[in-house]
Amino acid sequence: MQYVSTRGGSPALDFEAVTLQGLAPDGGLYVPQTWPRLTPEEIRSLAGLPYPELGARVMRPFVGDTLSPAQLLALCERAYHAFAHPAVAPLAQLDEQRWLLDLTRGPTLAFKDIALQLVGLLFETFLARSHRHLTIIGATSGDTGSAAIDAVAGREHVDIFMLHPADRISDVQRRQMTTVLAPNVHNIAVQGSFDDVQAMVKRMFSDADLTRSLNLGAVNSINWARLMAQVVYYFAAAVQLGGPARPVAFSVPTGNFGDAYAGYVAHRMGLPLHRLVVATNINDILHRALTGGEYARGDLQPTSSPSMDIQVSSNFERLLFDAGGRDGAVTRGQLEQFEGTGAASLTSGQRRMIDRVFTSCRASEDEAAEGMRWAWECAGVLIDPHTAVGLHAARQQHCPADVPIVTLATAHPAKFRDAVERATGQRPRLPARLGDLFARAERCTRLPNDYAAVAHYIAENGRH
Ligand SMILES: *Cc1c(COP(=O)(O)O)cnc(C)c1O
Repeated sequence: MQYVSTRGGSPALDFEAVTLQGLAPDGGLYVPQTWPRLTPEEIRSLAGLPYPELGARVMRPFVGDTLSPAQLLALCERAYHAFAHPAVAPLAQLDEQRWLLDLTRGPTLAFKDIALQLVGLLFETFLARSHRHLTIIGATSGDTGSAAIDAVAGREHVDIFMLHPADRISDVQRRQMTTVLAPNVHNIAVQGSFDDVQAMVKRMFSDADLTRSLNLGAVNSINWARLMAQVVYYFAAAVQLGGPARPVAFSVPTGNFGDAYAGYVAHRMGLPLHRLVVATNINDILHRALTGGEYARGDLQPTSSPSMDIQVSSNFERLLFDAGGRDGAVTRGQLEQFEGTGAASLTSGQRRMIDRVFTSCRASEDEAAEGMRWAWECAGVLIDPHTAVGLHAARQQHCPADVPIVTLATAHPAKFRDAVERATGQRPRLPARLGDLFARAERCTRLPNDYAAVAHYIAENGRH
């Protein structure tokens, strides 16, 4: 399997190279050159398999010959072995038609663990093979940082420097990062805002001094391997609910469009889906693009679902590429226009193609709170504010009575205890395995909001 750039201007690469590279040199994102297909018989045969084995079968065509089937299976088994539920991603029924796919059983209580636990192992495998070392630099406003740190802590060929805005993330989120004491993990609290921190990281990737001395890598959701790992749970859930004979609908709380795009990939691989519902909070660039055909940046508004507070949805580029007939020049034109002016129009062909699979819904803060209340009062389940945005959208859908609609649960309610308590009157407790989080020692370096100081710290403490 070879991968091409959505902007048409980069040489094709194999799975190992796209995993380590992240962004394509022409500024585009890597996508498979062709979509592998599973036959209905192959999909049926996934039913009842343990999650790691099901995952290895779904991901097999994407890794090509960079890993043997036995190696891929062994990596999946290692990646999912520390999850707190034997099914890895268990399904729960909420009412007659609605289900919840619980993706929060990983080590940091967020769905990002499902992809990052595997990606950490892929990094290690590929780097060891070529005797290379990778320095990951990232900025986090909370969830991504802890999931990425947990995935690479203690690994021999990787160092990670995670920057967060000092005093502006929750105690739980900070401690989930700073209590990881492995020597290859470096937490930096920058005395600035999240935007300051993100701008610093961006600048580091084009800083000649830094990139000359360190092999820099990223772990954000534009990495193809992350998306690939997320395709798996769409198959796992659908076969449990009667797929492929019975089409299933999914409602996906969406920010950067990685998770929703993974559902689209499952569909392209042959999984019958009734609908993919793109659920946004009031930062609704995707809802506006899907309903009005205009992909246009708005003003960022903070909400109780901060991991979905974005105004640029990077992975949407991958859908535009596919829906535009896979013409890299067209995607490049649209994205350059968006980057220059803050807005780009979808073509009528793109809109037609996207409408066949996707629908969208936006939840206000009150509607998300009402989603949490409904889940607690009517189904006895506590959900977090991100999941609530998805559940609100699922409750607005009118699917035929025989179509199950699955909301993806993306964070554990204990990560957002205050918002959950405000909506439901219940204060969710941290799961026992994290119970001593507040007793553990922390390690973190506090630095001023000054690019030179932070870059100097990384150059001094990185392995060359
Ligand atoms: C990252 C995140 C999302 C959004 O996922 P995307 O793939 O960026 O659309 C939703 N909920 C939670 C809890 C997250 O951490």
